[in-house]
Amino acid sequence: MRCAMSETRDRILGMNLIGGVLCLDFTNTIGWRGGPDSDEKLYDYEDLIVWGRHAGALSERHGKELLKRAASEPARARATHQQAIALREALYRTFSSLSSGRSPRPIDVAQINAVVGDAYRHLRLAPRPPSGIAPRPPSGIAPRPSSGLAPLGGGFAWEWHEAEGALELPVWMVARSAAELLTSDSLGRVRECAGEKCDWLFLDASRNRSRRWCDMAECGNRAKARRNYARRRGGAAPRGAAARTGRGREA
Ligand SMILES: [Zn+2]
Repeated sequence: MRCAMSETRDRILGMNLIGGVLCLDFTNTIGWRGGPDSDEKLYDYEDLIVWGRHAGALSERHGKELLKRAASEPARARATHQQAIALREALYRTFSSLSSGRSPRPIDVAQINAVVGDAYRHLRLAPRPPSGIAPRPPSGIAPRPSSGLAPLGGGFAWEWHEAEGALELPVWMVARSAAELLTSDSLGRVRECAGEKCDWLFLDASRNRSRRWCDMAECGNRAKARRNYARRRGGAAPRGAAARTGRGREA
């Protein structure tokens, strides 16, 4: 129904992007996985594009072009949406495992690798004109120590090649972001929210690496209220006091 669909879009646009990096924000497009009150944000390809716009991965013009193309290739759009969801869950399981010191499942790594391979087949190195400013490394990745050699022109940057019209581009963007994070020193800063039942992932950018909550205003305050309740009662809070009452993560 159109009304329900537009409500879903509004909820995507209201999502708080707390992951700190594209691939983690993507894993947070569902909440409370596997439970009866799981909160899916991406029901179809159009939702994927709305999210890509919201997350800043796609321009408005690019998003419109992809939607136009999706309308003429509905089967491919459906398959791409399914691929996106499968990648999202493989990424969630992998980062969740790594954040708690467990090894990721080989089947998940294989699934991520398959999409990463597709993504990097559509990337090429493009020379940058000299600008006097050193090229920025990809987000979350520490620059390599200088080799002592003078830079060639303005250096090089990764550029999408013959991919602009590909329906899969948003999925490749997420896969590339995941590949960069998985191979960076920032991997050790990936955390899963400590909130009860909360499965959101984020990059802990705090100086002493002490961030526990996806959002202090949500899971953090809920846990605080639960502790206060227990203190006043001199015992444990009833389960109802900790229950989440809505999809409060939206901004
Ligand atoms: Zn949380």
